[in-house]
Amino acid sequence: MAVIGFIGLGHMGGPMSANLVKAGHTVQGYDLVPAALAAAADNGVTTVSSIADAVRGADAVITMLPSGKHLLDAYDEVLPHAASGALLVDSSTVDVADARAAHQRAQEAGFGSIDAPVSGGTAGAEAGTLTFMVGGSEADFQRAESVLEPMARKVIHCGGPGNGQVTKMCNNLILGASMIAVSEAFVLGERLGLSHEALYDVAAVSTGQCWALTTNCPVPDLVETSRANHDYEPGFAAALMLKDLNLALSAAEQSGTDASLGRLATDLYRRFNEEGGGGQDFGAIIKSIREHSGS
Ligand code: NAD
Repeated sequence: MAVIGFIGLGHMGGPMSANLVKAGHTVQGYDLVPAALAAAADNGVTTVSSIADAVRGADAVITMLPSGKHLLDAYDEVLPHAASGALLVDSSTVDVADARAAHQRAQEAGFGSIDAPVSGGTAGAEAGTLTFMVGGSEADFQRAESVLEPMARKVIHCGGPGNGQVTKMCNNLILGASMIAVSEAFVLGERLGLSHEALYDVAAVSTGQCWALTTNCPVPDLVETSRANHDYEPGFAAALMLKDLNLALSAAEQSGTDASLGRLATDLYRRFNEEGGGGQDFGAIIKSIREHSGS
């Protein structure tokens, strides 16, 4: 069993670190927030009072932080104190450029590293059923598998450094745009006298079929797994969808990609966040589309 340093014990890192403890690993956890540390201690994490103490003697170091800036700032403390031979695993969702900068710094300091962002949300973090999208060398990917396994349903190697983040933002570009398209279709149907049931029954078995429709349908009472049935309590919060769409857009701009639909989806999620929807599930964007539709 390994010693794992875990930095960032929030909504995702808290349950992820708990699953590592359950699998028998020794987890040295650190967070800036005392309540996050206390919750982690209740789950068997050995809590410490600095990043240096979290990474000292660890075989692997996992970061689960809000942004690329947080990650690179944390690396100022991780790199001088991590044990030689430690594998650095970043599971935060960050800008591709920041992920590649983190790899570069790790490599220069003599560490193997992977970017390993996740999908599956807090429910997946608690159940240990996250999907990890891994960027890095084949050798580092193989070393990471046993560390990631207690937190994962699937671990997929997506290519070289940064490609885990590329995969994550491409997937969420599809998801954000498709949720808006499904929502617009339901609102259009409503306004033309079509029942939700009729549209669902046809689209779910026709060419409109997609995850936003058949797993997280934005109208309630059609799909058991939908957050719409729970007053749009997330799930995957609209604020995080906006974050991921912004990352996709910034990568599109840097790579010269014509991502017109991505830009529009970002604008619509920004509007919904500005209207106060950020804490709701991203499927609640249907409410904003209804509100902005004419009388
Ligand atoms: P969170 O804000 O709940 O947790 C982040 C934690 O990092 C906080 O507890 C914060 O105190 C801590 N932190 C910040 N700077 C620190 C530092 N220097 N040292 C130690 N701790 C520090 O966020 P979250 O929901 O757990 O998300 C974490 C990452 O996972 C984000 O990048 C997010 O985009 C991504 N993600 C989240 C979800 C989700 O459903 N919540 C799903 C997939 C991916």
